[in-house]
Amino acid sequence: MPLTKKLLFLFMAPAVISFATQCYSMPDDNWQLDDTPAEMSDDEEIALGRQVDEYIRHQFYLETDPEFNAAVNNIVQKLVAVSDRNKLPFTCAILQSLSINAFSAPGGHIYLTCGLLQFAQTEDEVAGIIGHEVAHASLQHASKFYHEVMEFLSHKDEGINSATNLLLLNSHLEEFEQDADTTGVLYAQKAGFNPNGLLNFLERHLNLIRHKGLFGMFGMSGHNSSPTINSRIIHLKEYISTLEREK
Ligand SMILES: [Zn+2]
Repeated sequence: MPLTKKLLFLFMAPAVISFATQCYSMPDDNWQLDDTPAEMSDDEEIALGRQVDEYIRHQFYLETDPEFNAAVNNIVQKLVAVSDRNKLPFTCAILQSLSINAFSAPGGHIYLTCGLLQFAQTEDEVAGIIGHEVAHASLQHASKFYHEVMEFLSHKDEGINSATNLLLLNSHLEEFEQDADTTGVLYAQKAGFNPNGLLNFLERHLNLIRHKGLFGMFGMSGHNSSPTINSRIIHLKEYISTLEREK
């Protein structure tokens, strides 16, 4: 999620939760659930992703400039090629929004805003961002998150555990973010990009958010908050130092 809002799945979390809720309350012939909530199959993930993608494409104007799209998709394909789930039909859409944001939907759909691409200073930074989103798909975060939401729903009537489980769910979202950061950096490096791209981007983005915060222009929350980006930066620096030691 990142670069800016409840990063992890700004759109994906609500979509997965509503999907899980639907499955939980009205299982039908297509979505058989047994007592143990299972993770999503690839086909289920792709089907859910298609629905989310349709929704997002109705909510935003897409940037249609062919050269701009080709340049971004070229980076996407390089990262997908070195990823662990390169058979997934990845797509990347550029949204006409000035906010600085990137996010993904299940099934390999990636979205970047024009604001993010304008803010990025190098191809390595863009590759760092895209690597993070490709990593969410490769690490099957949609499916894992779905599984956890199902677990949560199946225990929600037990009352006392609900709050604890919700906190656990939230902490897992943060873990997903950090895992997507490190795996994405690895993909960027394997694809021939500078592995510091994401770190450089996040540091400049954090400066911008703090600067804006200083003048009280607007409030930030969730994954876009400076503490969250800051903890990602610290985690990334540690990881990149281990990559450099291994050289
Ligand atoms: Zn993320």
